[in-house]
Amino acid sequence: MKNIAVIGSGTMGNGIAHTFAQFGYNVALIDISQPALDKAMATIAKNLDRIVAKGTITEADKAATLKNITTYTAVADGVKSADLVVEAATENVEIKLNIFRELDKLCPPNTILASNTSSISITKIGAVTKRADKVIGMHFMNPVPVMKLVEVIRGYSTSDEVCSLIMETSKKLNKVPTEVNDYPGFVANKILMPMINEAIITLHEGTAGVEEIDTVMKLGMAHPMGPLQLADFIGLDVCLSILKVLQDGYGNPKYAPCPLLVNMVTAGHLGVKSGQGFYSWGHGTKDLIVADGFKKKVMA
Ligand code: NAD
Repeated sequence: MKNIAVIGSGTMGNGIAHTFAQFGYNVALIDISQPALDKAMATIAKNLDRIVAKGTITEADKAATLKNITTYTAVADGVKSADLVVEAATENVEIKLNIFRELDKLCPPNTILASNTSSISITKIGAVTKRADKVIGMHFMNPVPVMKLVEVIRGYSTSDEVCSLIMETSKKLNKVPTEVNDYPGFVANKILMPMINEAIITLHEGTAGVEEIDTVMKLGMAHPMGPLQLADFIGLDVCLSILKVLQDGYGNPKYAPCPLLVNMVTAGHLGVKSGQGFYSWGHGTKDLIVADGFKKKVMA
């Protein structure tokens, strides 16, 4: 395992490319958008500066990491010698199925195809390829260079050999891989999303305000951030789509998204990325703006 291709250079793709490159892999970072690739390389350089400042790596390590990454807009050029492809494109079933159909045709026969999807079935993705035994979930957490967990998802047809190889590769990135089976939401989001939804229901019912709910969960349960702030960070549209996957997949009404979440997404209040969610954020930043008026509005 030496050559890695990463499809999608957004929030997750740039972190995945950064991490593989920092641990000495050759990385082809691929996106349909050249501006997205330029932004990703700038983000990786900035994040490496932060690690250099902490003394974890040197300036020479930073230069070597950046040298290990090549960017492409054409998938065919980026994947032709890949041992492993990690797909981290937009969370949309049709987009992902099309990418995997194309990867199956373009990649060498032994290339392992992994997806970083938060909620889409690995078995479904594998089924559109002729190599379902080599299709697996490699669910990194955000921010990738910092977070230790990789949820490794075995599709129905994923082979033992491919699963072991991905577990070993994750350990080489200094991560802690954890093997789970392919059912809706896997483990991480099957547990996290109902908690976030319950926090939104608690707000919607008027039991407490945004800050009060988050304070109870932070100080009472020792969570590093409250569920409503976390929802703003993840993106309310992403939370809504994962809840729908859980609701459809299990057919259980306990996963029904809170109507307040549906309304906020419809109104374009998506959290940090839109500047407005349960909290107000400086545009494109994670800077919290204190806005009492808004807090009252979501309580209404
Ligand atoms: P994002 O919107 O930040 O980035 C997606 C990128 O994919 C964009 O740059 C877009 O141009 C690119 N893209 C779209 N179609 C493409 C194609 N056909 N070929 C190449 N590139 C394409 O998304 P993100 O937040 O980085 O999420 C990516 C994946 O990671 C999703 O499956 C998501 O569920 C998963 N994920 C996200 C998080 C998170 O916290 N954001 C955490 C874990 C997993």
